[in-house]
Amino acid sequence: MRFPGWYKKLNRSVGRAIGAYGMIADGDRIAVGISGGKDSLALLSILHRRLATIPVRYELFPVYIDPGFEPSPAPVIEDFCSRLGLRLHVEYSRNGIVAHSAENRENPCFLCARLRRKMLFEKTVTLGCNKLALGHHKDDLIETFFINVLYSGQVCTIVPVQSFFGGAFTMIRPLAYSDEADIRSFAEKAGLPVVVNACPSASSSRRSEIKSLLNRFYQSNRKVRGNIFRALHHVNADFMLTAEHLRRHGSLQRSLAGSIDSGQDQPTMDTHR
Ligand code: SF4
Repeated sequence: MRFPGWYKKLNRSVGRAIGAYGMIADGDRIAVGISGGKDSLALLSILHRRLATIPVRYELFPVYIDPGFEPSPAPVIEDFCSRLGLRLHVEYSRNGIVAHSAENRENPCFLCARLRRKMLFEKTVTLGCNKLALGHHKDDLIETFFINVLYSGQVCTIVPVQSFFGGAFTMIRPLAYSDEADIRSFAEKAGLPVVVNACPSASSSRRSEIKSLLNRFYQSNRKVRGNIFRALHHVNADFMLTAEHLRRHGSLQRSLAGSIDSGQDQPTMDTHR
């Protein structure tokens, strides 16, 4: 069977991520979180297409948690899934409405995503799935890192594989090595029925702000994006202000205050002040 370039490109990056982390094994029952956006539809589509070309057998269970906005895209997603021979599992909620109500003092996306995640976890367990696949891609990993640094005061991001409830199921992100641009191209060329998010926060989230900020850097130097992604793999904990660093060096630092430099090579952290 001959596949077009846009399919092969995304399939290659998905294969790399799955292989690197051993994400999928024979006999897996994989719940796939669907939002109706290009990422989750592309994820479902490619996991389904790969079944025709790889020796590993697994079952897919698409799950859609409806946030409660009108019109619901559930029928469109349902139709897409049935064309793949899959049944969509829909859970209706008011997560999006609650998140935008006056009682919610948190960021709407924060609460909405937390409620959605809880329902997704419950559905994964109810369906007897041992894996939950989500459509986060390389750009999501980069953007989440900056969101956490700027708004949560933490140096962390979302990871390709994560185990929950003592191994009851494993969350996997097969698009973790995939560029958003390749997913967009795949979604367009494959004619995926991407739905418009009716949520009032859809275009004004913190993620959109970070995305446009990062795009400015990407346009000024094409190496920046790759460098950030590589940096997420190369964390030098010896040069971070961690609790461990304080525990090991705090008192020593105080007793040596004002003494000579150790002479050890330091990474460049010049702030030009
Ligand atoms: S954009 Fe809307 S639907 Fe999406 S997580 Fe934020 S509040 Fe929820």
